[in-house]
Amino acid sequence: MKKRIYLDYAATTPVDPYVAQKMQPYFTEIFGNPSSLHTEGRNAHTTLENARNDVARVLNVQPQEILFTGSGTESDNIALQGVAHAYRSHGRHIVVSSIEHKAVLESASKLEKEGFLVTYLPTSSTGIVKLSSLKDALTPQTILVSIMMANNEIGTIQPIRKISSLIKKHHQTITPFFHTDACQAAGTMNLDVQKLGVDLLTINGSKIYGPKGVGCLYIKNGVRIDPLIVGGGQEKKRRGGTENIPYIIGFAEALTRIDKKRSKESERLTALREYFIKKLIKIPKTRLNGHRIHRLPNNIHVSFYGIEGESLLLLLDHHGVAVSTASACSTNDLSPSHVLKAINASDEWAHGSIRFTLGKYTTMKDIDYVMNILPKLVERLRNISPLQ
Ligand SMILES: *Cc1c(COP(=O)(O)O)cnc(C)c1O
Repeated sequence: MKKRIYLDYAATTPVDPYVAQKMQPYFTEIFGNPSSLHTEGRNAHTTLENARNDVARVLNVQPQEILFTGSGTESDNIALQGVAHAYRSHGRHIVVSSIEHKAVLESASKLEKEGFLVTYLPTSSTGIVKLSSLKDALTPQTILVSIMMANNEIGTIQPIRKISSLIKKHHQTITPFFHTDACQAAGTMNLDVQKLGVDLLTINGSKIYGPKGVGCLYIKNGVRIDPLIVGGGQEKKRRGGTENIPYIIGFAEALTRIDKKRSKESERLTALREYFIKKLIKIPKTRLNGHRIHRLPNNIHVSFYGIEGESLLLLLDHHGVAVSTASACSTNDLSPSHVLKAINASDEWAHGSIRFTLGKYTTMKDIDYVMNILPKLVERLRNISPLQ
């Protein structure tokens, strides 16, 4: 089979072989239930707490502030709904950005149906949340603000530290709390919670060369959440269910590994990104979406005027290249994504959007290969497109 070029690392990453190997014994040998009192149970418990220490070290927080979950989606759900339900007597107002992941947006709309008031913050045309709108949105009733660290579609990075200091200035006793979804940022950005100044932070294994179906939520000491899943009282009664030890091990291992290599790898990816962008924007009627500088080192989101992104995706796939469109949010809805709408991309541009996301196996040769075929494919689609 011909070699494939995978440029969709923002969708998910392969599991690092070293991580997979580290997980292996926890399926068959060290299999105990961490809640059991016997030796097998105590070994599993020690393993779980070691993983918690590892994650806490990377985030620069206390181990008891780490809650292991089943995904980034679940962490977002707990952050939004868990905090809202625990603090409803303090106020019923929540603020989110309009370009959040659906896990945050759908949680917010669920809360709206329960009687909470939600403000959706606008962004600039490059996808940066307007601080003045945030300032105007905060009221004494605001209990939670959720703004992602970096966007999964267009890669724009938010000024999290500025946002957290702005929120603290508006503190009514303890609220509002500040949650950030850092799933996309975890591979390339520093996650020191003390520097970021957030109260809750979401990351997952799926985007950092760990297993899918596992994540964590940092919850600052003193912040209460109503559990979404109740049962055996695991995770300090914040999430019922026997802990998924092999996956938690894999997640902690992946995070530790990526943290060590982060600054070097970010530099390498940024250089590749710039190399790619320079070539891409030479294709006629092509534009880069998102912010030119405040963007993830591995994200390139472009629009080719007058074509269908999905058609280009399929042609590229046929040529061995995996990319994403992220322009249609669901299969039977061809309207532009909520992110492209929020940055005011016109339909003609939004429809021709492609997201390339680079990762640790991406080389300059891969990009050269793509640039060898891409201009011709775009031209071919433009010649048959009814939009022209
Ligand atoms: C991938 C992603 C999620 C969802 O994570 P899962 O582990 O797939 O549930 C949430 N937020 C962002 C920004 C993501 O990129």
